[in-house]
Amino acid sequence: MQTSFSPEALADPAMRVSEEVIRKCVHCGFCTATCPTYVLLGDELDSPRGRIYLMKDMLENQREPSAEVVKHVDRCLSCLSCMTTCPSDVNYMHLVDNARAYIHQHYTRPRTDQFFRRLIASTLPYPKRFRRALTLARLAKPFTPLLRSIRALRPLAAMLELAPDGVPAQAVARSRRVPKPNGRVVLLQGCAEPVLRPQIRAATVRLLNRCGHDVILAQGEGCCGALVHHMGREVDALDAARRNIDAWVAEMDAGELNGIIVTASGCGTTIKSYGFLLRNDAAYADKAARVSAIAMDVSEYLARIDLPPFEPKGLAVAYHPACSLQHGQKVTEAPKRLLSDAGFVVRLPVEAHLCCGSAGTYNILQAEIATALGERKAANLDGLRTDVIATGNIGCATQIARFANAPVVHTVELLDWATGGPTPGGLEHIAREQNA
Ligand code: SF4
Ligand code: SF4
Repeated sequence: MQTSFSPEALADPAMRVSEEVIRKCVHCGFCTATCPTYVLLGDELDSPRGRIYLMKDMLENQREPSAEVVKHVDRCLSCLSCMTTCPSDVNYMHLVDNARAYIHQHYTRPRTDQFFRRLIASTLPYPKRFRRALTLARLAKPFTPLLRSIRALRPLAAMLELAPDGVPAQAVARSRRVPKPNGRVVLLQGCAEPVLRPQIRAATVRLLNRCGHDVILAQGEGCCGALVHHMGREVDALDAARRNIDAWVAEMDAGELNGIIVTASGCGTTIKSYGFLLRNDAAYADKAARVSAIAMDVSEYLARIDLPPFEPKGLAVAYHPACSLQHGQKVTEAPKRLLSDAGFVVRLPVEAHLCCGSAGTYNILQAEIATALGERKAANLDGLRTDVIATGNIGCATQIARFANAPVVHTVELLDWATGGPTPGGLEHIAREQNA
């Protein structure tokens, strides 16, 4: 695609990257067929190619973002399915990230939209605040239908719909500074995941300990920054990245570290991008690159090491590949292979490449599209008639559990169970039947 960015605009590193990305696009439109919003809405402007045209026009001409452009960029899930399909290696992720940051700087959103975005950015990334918010949400849940009927308050209704009926007890897994024969790993503690499903961290620590690994929960670490990054809040996202880099580099300098292990693939994609995001920060560029180089999804790491013997559970598992794992990190085989090596019968749904509608804060801010995608995904997964659905991202697990009949767990919970851990929450009835 031809571009005409001015030399002044290209002095900005983000604009330079955007221009390079846009030039690679050859308008072929292959990406439209695999874009969830185009599949659902059938509007070219809700396809990757259409959005690239809109973002090009906005960035190239340094235009004030129009409500129309913002609408179509906001509707993008950042699922990155288009990047998997694109034959021209167009890095849509960098382009849409830059466009979101540009919109955040140059566009004044309606007041209620601003309020909900601020509320999300100041609550979800902080486990204590998020936990308190979920406790309050239980009280407000009966008002959900009323709030849904008021258009401006739909994000609030979506938050209440997503909130669990009860707040799970806090994670009990602790950092264990016990030297183990196979080395040390840092485990990302995360923000929303340990509040919504603390069993994931507990299962991961148990499994890695069983594999002879010392699991470090680094002091000073916080949210990876993905949630605010996807809202265009670059300053907040880079602050989060720097804080984590400081915490993890301290652990890297304290002794050999096999990896930084991530159980939420949405976070993994962002942490693997720290090196790129901080490439122009003289104080952090090298450290960020070191961190990104050893960041791994938990399934990626487990596929590289020797696992303990498995006790087959005889269960059929519908595997949902999270977009951030399959498109963002290109980790496609490891989770399926680990599950089938552990004795589970693994099935993949039709349209496995399509997003479930979770996408960070998307199911709050774009609730209607997210619900349509969630229902479609759940129907495809339930159609496999398996005992359980497994996935590698808490956002997907929460979204799919709203619509699916089968219980939803993290892949690592099944692997922990098969190697001697407790029965994952939601599968107790199956374990009871097996033991009867
Ligand atoms: S990231 Fe996903 S929703 Fe956005 S344009 Fe690409 S395929 Fe479509
Ligand atoms: S598939 Fe790639 S090159 Fe083709 S229109 Fe989409 S982004 Fe552009």
